[in-house]
Amino acid sequence: GEGDPTLLRVTLACCDAIIAAEPELTRMDQIVGDGDIGRSLASGAEAILAAKPRLATLSGAPFWREVGAIVRRSTGGTSGPLYAILATAAGNALDQAEGAAGAQLARAFAAGVEALQALGGAEPGDRTMVDALRPAARAMEGTEDPAEALRRAAQAARDGAEATKDMRPRRGRSSYVGDRVLGHVDPGAEAVALWLDAAARTL
Ligand code: ADP
Ligand code: MG
Ligand code: MG
Repeated sequence: GEGDPTLLRVTLACCDAIIAAEPELTRMDQIVGDGDIGRSLASGAEAILAAKPRLATLSGAPFWREVGAIVRRSTGGTSGPLYAILATAAGNALDQAEGAAGAQLARAFAAGVEALQALGGAEPGDRTMVDALRPAARAMEGTEDPAEALRRAAQAARDGAEATKDMRPRRGRSSYVGDRVLGHVDPGAEAVALWLDAAARTL
């Protein structure tokens, strides 16, 4: 098939950012969870990098569905299935999306986040990756230029991740740790802020 060099470049940059952040994400998850998120996400990122030759032949919806399939096979923890459905649902939504590239990106991203929330059950304020993803999805709306959409999304995700410091955990392992997590950023939300920042800088 016909590849999308820009989409590939942005995706690989996200993977590089996650791999570089593994020690920091591990440290963060050791405080509020079980310490495995750095390794889980880095495994997924490594698997995507390893699939570069195949991804280089894909674009649009098939590209995102392939990323979802790779993540489903390679990524453990709670994050694995959640990221897999994010990518797969975003790809499926792209099949239907119309209009400017930025609007299509926004529609696909929003559909991915919606599916992730339906699977995981987390709402904004529960102190999860949703607290970075939802504001990012909202920030993309109404922007025709995908680079501008990604810049807004990255800033919104960063603000959303910082806001998790003050949230009491209601989902996942952090909910067992309780108030000891207060003052610390949720590692899943931090990861979202990191890869969206890499994406925005690359596009
Ligand atoms: P585990 O808790 O299984 O070790 P990970 O370490 O892979 O999972 O991921 C932990 C992150 O997953 C949390 O920091 C949080 O952001 C996110 N998370 C946990 N539960 C949910 C959920 N139900 N919905 C969305 N995100 C969640
Ligand atoms: Mg964990
Ligand atoms: Mg775990």
